[in-house]
Amino acid sequence: MYSIHDIRNDFPILSREVYGHPLVYLDNGATTQKPRCVVEAMVDEYYNVNANVHRGVHFLSQRATDLHEASRETVRAFVNARSTSEILFTRGTTESINLLAFTFGEAFIHEGDEILISTMEHHSNIVPWQMMCQRKGAVLKVIPMTDEGELLMDAYEALLTERTRLVCCTHVSNVLGTVNPVKEIIRIAHQHDIPVLIDGAQSVPHMPVDVQDLDCDFFAFSGHKVYGPTGVGVLYGKEAWLDRLPPYQGGGEMIKNVTFEHTTYNDLPYKFEAGTPDYVATHALATALDYVSALGMDNIFRHEQQLTRYAVEQLRTIDGMTIFGHTRDTADAVISFLVRKDGHYIHHLDLGTLLDRLGIAVRTGHHCAEPLMHRLGIEGTVRASFGLYNTTAEVDALVAGIRRVVQMF
Ligand code: PLP
Repeated sequence: MYSIHDIRNDFPILSREVYGHPLVYLDNGATTQKPRCVVEAMVDEYYNVNANVHRGVHFLSQRATDLHEASRETVRAFVNARSTSEILFTRGTTESINLLAFTFGEAFIHEGDEILISTMEHHSNIVPWQMMCQRKGAVLKVIPMTDEGELLMDAYEALLTERTRLVCCTHVSNVLGTVNPVKEIIRIAHQHDIPVLIDGAQSVPHMPVDVQDLDCDFFAFSGHKVYGPTGVGVLYGKEAWLDRLPPYQGGGEMIKNVTFEHTTYNDLPYKFEAGTPDYVATHALATALDYVSALGMDNIFRHEQQLTRYAVEQLRTIDGMTIFGHTRDTADAVISFLVRKDGHYIHHLDLGTLLDRLGIAVRTGHHCAEPLMHRLGIEGTVRASFGLYNTTAEVDALVAGIRRVVQMF
């Protein structure tokens, strides 16, 4: 049973007040709040287990190592990877993509090669590829989209050439909520023997993800967006690809043998995990994944879809409202909007700041997607993004808050 009351009790922060109002937290796209079990897992590990992993014979080190490696198995099962060798722990989506951009660039990219991304990428799925293209003399190409925020699939196919080496695409837009047809994108790329990276930062918290079913070659996500701690994330890669990539950083853990002349590298996944991992965070991430799995990703998806549809419906009743994207029912739990008054948009920052005074936390700005803002011809939006604990009452508070703020202009 999906009991929103019980669920909210698991998140202590949700019962606090902001400026004398009950907190309405609608910034889940940026980061999610943490259930008690996740915080307790971290406290418990520091109080009762803490020791460095992988290199100790003593009790605590073995226990910490067991927790860390069990967490890798939890992540593997959560995204249905074939093997734990395919699960690399990183600091987050950004580091996952940087890792891939550097290593893939070193192994496979030559002058004149092409990397394909989409118009609606987060900066962390643009800039690492730009940097790699600059280093290697490669070319970054962009899949265009419609005014409604849907990728143009014919244009995508036409952009694939003999020089295309990798396709990188977000699963869900962090601005528009568009759920991209990534399975189809991957299928088409594979027809041309081109591998695909999916940025799953905004999909993993909201829907079941099965990397084998998607057949993606790489998949990145962040722990803190799926109710886990900050500072930990995942890069999934098919073993056949990871085997062919060079290491990212050098140091402890990623080696088998070192002499001053030569180093042999460790097996997967450790080849890509130099230095002490954030083993407390990996354990807490696994705790968060266990938490959402117990609720059921299907149930979370259903709850958030209902909430999102209700929110879109209610927001559309506000005079002057423009919602970007959401032309299809399938859009995810992220809604970007602006409100027009007296012939021009109320500045997103003003709207967000005044909503904050009512205890309503939304995000304003370009949402780390400046090229998408350019495409939409705007500077920024107000963004409400939902999590598994949000309620229709909170949507009502948002809508009432916007009405009240708009009257002030
Ligand atoms: N990709 C998308 C689609 C995102 O929404 C975000 C964060 O907002 C990122 C990547 C970057 O995630 P992180 O800052 O956790 O590395």
